[in-house]
Amino acid sequence: MTSTLDSTQSPRRPVRRVVIAGGGTAGWMMAACLSKHLGKRLEIRLVESDEIGTVGVGEATIPTMLTFHQLLGLDERAFMAATQATIKLGIQFEGWRDIGQTYIHAFGSTGIDHWTAGFQHFWLKGRERGLASDYGDYCLELRAARENKFCHLPDDGIHYAYHLDATLYGAFLRKFSEGYGVQRIEGRIAEVMMQAPEGDIRALRLQDGSVIEGDLFVDCTGMRSVLLGQALGVGYQDWSHWLPCDSAIALQTASVREAVPYTRSIAHPWGWQWQIPLQHRVGNGVVFSSRYTDDETARAALLERIDGEVLTPHRVIRFKPGQREVAWKRNCVGVGLASGFLEPLESTSIHLIQRSAIRLMQMFPKDGIRDSDIAEYNAQMRHELEHIRDFIVLHYHLTDRTDSPMWRDMREMTVPASLRHRIELFRETGRVFRVPNELFTENSWIQVMLGQGVLPEQHHPSADLMSDRELAGFLGSIKTRVDQRVAQMPGHQAYLMRYAPAGALKTAVPA
Ligand code: FAD
Repeated sequence: MTSTLDSTQSPRRPVRRVVIAGGGTAGWMMAACLSKHLGKRLEIRLVESDEIGTVGVGEATIPTMLTFHQLLGLDERAFMAATQATIKLGIQFEGWRDIGQTYIHAFGSTGIDHWTAGFQHFWLKGRERGLASDYGDYCLELRAARENKFCHLPDDGIHYAYHLDATLYGAFLRKFSEGYGVQRIEGRIAEVMMQAPEGDIRALRLQDGSVIEGDLFVDCTGMRSVLLGQALGVGYQDWSHWLPCDSAIALQTASVREAVPYTRSIAHPWGWQWQIPLQHRVGNGVVFSSRYTDDETARAALLERIDGEVLTPHRVIRFKPGQREVAWKRNCVGVGLASGFLEPLESTSIHLIQRSAIRLMQMFPKDGIRDSDIAEYNAQMRHELEHIRDFIVLHYHLTDRTDSPMWRDMREMTVPASLRHRIELFRETGRVFRVPNELFTENSWIQVMLGQGVLPEQHHPSADLMSDRELAGFLGSIKTRVDQRVAQMPGHQAYLMRYAPAGALKTAVPA
């Protein structure tokens, strides 16, 4: 798959020609970002193969996507209409703590923090004194999700993300990127041509014999990782000792009810199942561990729990939970599945693509690629990823389930030291601290730890400074404000049909 064109290493040269290999969500997000912001300076070509196709899943997002779209200058209504998008206010976890137990991890914040102590301390004290209701009652997004409500609020007053059709999103970004000058080339990469055995990538040779030369290559070839993994030999760190799932089965069904504004994540004895409602259909799938079950059992469980007409044949997808040792090597940056995949719980993969795009923009070479940029990029990506990994492992580890070998093993596994510390700190003191550049907020950690059954042993002394009357007034006023706002919101489906019904608006293409 690789060959050498000449024996000398190329001197440092300015990056003018960018070649994006692969046109899935990663390829087109990279193309959109690079072309919008550096398109005037660069020649950007994207190679993709219709014959290979894309992974075709990846339909739940997190609120950071709004920032990415703002950076692109996308019109939200056009984007939502074009991708059949619905609103996501969080994830409902069903049966994760134990069979029959459900909680929602919602976006946004809960209650009001004091600088010494987060809201959870006041809630804990209120709970002890019989003055507080469910923790989620103090979170606008969570309450709106429970009642299937949504509308935009002034001053970004509600945090949300989207469920979207991955294929339509790719097509939407393709149109956008081509409007900014990206050239799409259809073809299968047959060979990665190197400058020298240990040198840079010089070109891609396609099956039809054409050669695409570049200065910088972005590997978005999915799990094949044709450039970063295969040609440059970057190894893969396997995290399956912490993340048990390595397989998925996906299929689409017809909608039989109004779309809810949250993703459903339903635990099974050997993995979990997702339900992602779009405007025109529902995305379904099971994610499971081949160590604990087989395809047929997983498929049967999936089919048992879906209720619309099945629209697509089911597809089995295999993956190895983990990451490439580095995402950027020499003149190649791996993005999306080409750089690794943890698993779909908490929908962080598209977010990581967007972080890669933003980071690459921030570290874009001026007069040639510098090792210090590569080192910084890799360190930042790794740092961010390890916190996300911990957050996902948390869901598996903190469980009361003992009904199957997988859950028993997950309870007993040795988790990363960084995660162990977080859990102990929360259990003993109720404290959570978000580290710099970490994706998940304190609120996310608290909601999931409470949801999975950890109740802190104590609260901060600041909460003791309030009398019962003051505390009841404080908690009550927050809850009343949330109740009032939710009561005024329209239903999610009704709002969608007014705001961005699918097919009603043209996609936004630059002039
Ligand atoms: P792909 O979609 O696989 O695209 C690879 C591209 O490379 C294709 O265009 C292909 O044609 C091309 N290609 C490959 N080899 C060659 C070659 N030799 N020559 C030419 N072209 C080639 N993420 C989320 O954020 N939210 C979710 O809810 C979510 N759910 C997921 C569920 C599952 C089961 C899985 C497996 C993943 C999920 N993800 C999710 C991850 C998400 O799907 C991916 O991050 C996203 O789709 C990006 O994929 P990609 O573009 O890297 O790869």
